[in-house]
Amino acid sequence: MPSLAVVVPAYNEAAVLEEFHARLGRVLDELPLDGSVLYVDDGSTDTTWQLIQGLMARDARVGAIKLSRNFGKEAALTAGLDHVDADAAVIIDADLQDPPELIPSLVDQWHAGFDVVYATRTARAGETGLKRLTAALFYRGMERLSDTALPRDTGDFRLLSRRALEALRQLRERQRFMKGLFAWIGYRQTAVYYLRESRQAGASKWNYWRLTQLAIEGVTSFSTAPLRLATWVGLMSSLLAFLYGAWVFGKAALFGDPVHGYPSLMVVILFLGGVQLLGLGVVGEYLGRNYAESKQRPLYFIEEQRAPRRAS
Ligand code: UDP
Ligand code: MG
Repeated sequence: MPSLAVVVPAYNEAAVLEEFHARLGRVLDELPLDGSVLYVDDGSTDTTWQLIQGLMARDARVGAIKLSRNFGKEAALTAGLDHVDADAAVIIDADLQDPPELIPSLVDQWHAGFDVVYATRTARAGETGLKRLTAALFYRGMERLSDTALPRDTGDFRLLSRRALEALRQLRERQRFMKGLFAWIGYRQTAVYYLRESRQAGASKWNYWRLTQLAIEGVTSFSTAPLRLATWVGLMSSLLAFLYGAWVFGKAALFGDPVHGYPSLMVVILFLGGVQLLGLGVVGEYLGRNYAESKQRPLYFIEEQRAPRRAS
């Protein structure tokens, strides 16, 4: 029987974990696959780890990894994907925003020959208009800036075939923009549509600050367009400055110049100063990322690891 491993990153998810596992368990019972679940406790400070151990005691399909601290969802996912050995892996959030009941549809597409089957939401229940607008702007922006097309309205909820999983494992970059990495590996990809529910309990760990950082991450990992933009803005402003300079010079030569022009001088100085700082900032973003990569640090550390009792 082909095997299917479900990878679940969990950070302070004690409030929903029991219900999540009950629903996931029911789905796995029905599937004609050798199913297993791998929980990755991303340094939770609540009772998540104890709950996972309780699940392990009751369900022989459950394995678990505990990271040495909170490394963030992307690293937790990477840890999980590094440690599954299955014909296909499903990635799903623990907060029940990704319905486990969709997994059979993902599996169907996998059987139909697809390597990456991602779940695309048709509606975002329980999210503010502002979050929806910023998400839309981000996807549209990424589409224009990067060569790697990101599927819209798609989270990390997806199924990966064995070869897609192996491809993903080879990408060891430290700045991990998973959505981009999934798309970048290629192979045969398809979407399955679903209605995204609002979070069952507990709080989202994302806020606008983290989302902004994620967006910068996405753009800088998959596009060098901002660097080029800095060049273009620099070129354009130099050209404008040259034309303006010619005009000032010509005017002074023809009519003489009793010292006026303080406002225009200030405008030019401030404008050029701003453009230079912006350009420096953009370069700094990329340089900082380069620095993080060059340190070659491991992506995560494991504190404790438990294999499922019934080895799949
Ligand atoms: N998560 C994690 N580490 C973190 C933050 C989140 O493993 O540092 C997990 C979290 O437990 C959940 C999933 O990633 O299973 C998605 O997190 P969340 O629901 O906060 O994100 P959102 O759905 O709002 O994008
Ligand atoms: Mg969530």
